[in-house]
Amino acid sequence: MVYLTRKIEFSASHLYHNPALSAEENRRVFGKCNNPHGHGHNYTLEVTIAGEPDLVTGMVLDLKDLKELLEREIMQRMDHRFLNYEVAELKGQIPTCENVARVIWNLLDPKIPQGRLHRVRLYESADLFADCYRSNGAKGGS
Ligand SMILES: [Zn+2]
Repeated sequence: MVYLTRKIEFSASHLYHNPALSAEENRRVFGKCNNPHGHGHNYTLEVTIAGEPDLVTGMVLDLKDLKELLEREIMQRMDHRFLNYEVAELKGQIPTCENVARVIWNLLDPKIPQGRLHRVRLYESADLFADCYRSNGAKGGS
């Protein structure tokens, strides 16, 4: 088995706010991330596919297909977006690094053309990232 990783970058903004909490609690729990005008991050996404290299091409999957998939599912959906309001899959969730990584997993997992999605790693900054792996052979992501 070989693990092949592709990395992309996108920029997006978000804010942390839970309507079930009071304004005071939101400020206490989320600190400056609760600023209602939001703030931005330059995200780095690493998508790892597990598979056996094809005997003819030497590839785990066609990199062009993976590039197009990431462009269509992630870049067009999230790049230069306000994650709270513009990404339907995040509706009702606080767009933490963890939740965004899980949404990305669920978007990509059914669409990997060859091999198998092994890991989604999302960096919100150089020193913070979240990982998603398949859980127990069931529906991945959480
Ligand atoms: Zn943030």
